[in-house]
Amino acid sequence: MYKIVNKQNVRQVASLLQRFQSTLVVAEHNNEKLTPITLNAITAASKLGGEVSCLVAGTSCTKVAEELSKVQGVKKILVAQHDAYKGLLPEELTPLILATHNQFSFTHICAGASAFGKNLLPRVAAKLDVAPISDIIEIKSPDTFVRTIYAGNALSTVKCNEKVKVFTVRGTSFEAASVSGGSAATEQVSPAGGVGLSEWLEQNLSKSDRPELTSAKVVVSGGRGLKSGENFKLLYDLADKLNAAVGASRAAVDAGFVPNDMQVGQTGKIVAPELYIAIGISGAIQHLAGMKDSKTIVAINKDPEAPIFQVADYGLVADLFKVRLLHIPSPEAIYIISTLVLKLRL
Ligand SMILES: Cc1cc2nc3c(=O)[nH]c(=O)nc-3n(C[C@H](O)[C@H](O)[C@H](O)COP(=O)(O)OP(=O)(O)OC[C@H]3O[C@@H](n4cnc5c(N)ncnc54)[C@H](O)[C@@H]3O)c2cc1C
Repeated sequence: MYKIVNKQNVRQVASLLQRFQSTLVVAEHNNEKLTPITLNAITAASKLGGEVSCLVAGTSCTKVAEELSKVQGVKKILVAQHDAYKGLLPEELTPLILATHNQFSFTHICAGASAFGKNLLPRVAAKLDVAPISDIIEIKSPDTFVRTIYAGNALSTVKCNEKVKVFTVRGTSFEAASVSGGSAATEQVSPAGGVGLSEWLEQNLSKSDRPELTSAKVVVSGGRGLKSGENFKLLYDLADKLNAAVGASRAAVDAGFVPNDMQVGQTGKIVAPELYIAIGISGAIQHLAGMKDSKTIVAINKDPEAPIFQVADYGLVADLFKVRLLHIPSPEAIYIISTLVLKLRL
């Protein structure tokens, strides 16, 4: 009897604690559109219980605030517009986040673990004098998080005793929050004003009609086995057929076959598409760290011992330039590999 009452108490206290959580998600956007990883961060924030607010800082970001106000799970949108927020520089955004935190006393502050979040939140944490937790993949409770270590080979459960928990969220580990059905209130917050430590001049983004690598449903990746940048054209053609993004191993990037924004892995992008096709990639742990959560993995490699086959659902041991035989069990994979065979002119 005593035990049952005790358990109930524990549950009541836990749910009471959850109700008192209030999380700020710092939105990533380009003044026009929200970056998809923010939706994953909102889902993570919702798991903490309590209220979720989003901070939209930019030069002219009303559209983004409107988009966010419809996202499920968001209670409040805080909007700050100022020329200083051009390029979303951490030096300029941090004072704003600190001022907003002073006003609302959040228990948690988070953002997606993209270049934006990885750049910004360590600075915020340092200014708050707390230790940040990076790239979380699971939330056990409002103060306990799971993250990967050793290039994804081990999971570390971290209990955070800081007064405010500052963390980044791995986008592929949390579903995107629904973009409709929400009705968040919008509130203007006073911009903190320009700090002027650094100035945003311009950015040159590679333009592509293909889906973005981190959010594509299908990714076709090439490695050193492709032998040259010209041979990547085969992958581009295939990707266009499958409406896929094209990725690459670091060896392919280092060899100059493709630009480094295509790199998948520990020091590249983390992807978890429905389908990942690895062609001429050995499957080094640093590469696997960036793609092993993909739902279906197809690998083509001429070396039967290549480590990529340990994580592949479908493997084709063959020279990617010469293969003729297919030993693939599922119709889905037959379709994919047939397309591959066609496009690679095998
Ligand atoms: C700190 C650190 C961080 C790193 N971060 C990353 C990262 O983010 N991403 C990443 O990818 N790597 C990363 N690396 C590098 C990683 O260790 C590997 O060196 C790299 O992934 C190898 O790339 P690859 O598989 O293309 O090349 P290789 O290992 O050279 O493999 C090429 C493969 O192609 C196959 N092949 C060759 N010719 C053919 C053919 N004709 N047909 C079929 N198959 C063929 C070969 O059998 C081989 O398996 C990192 C390393 C370090 C130390």
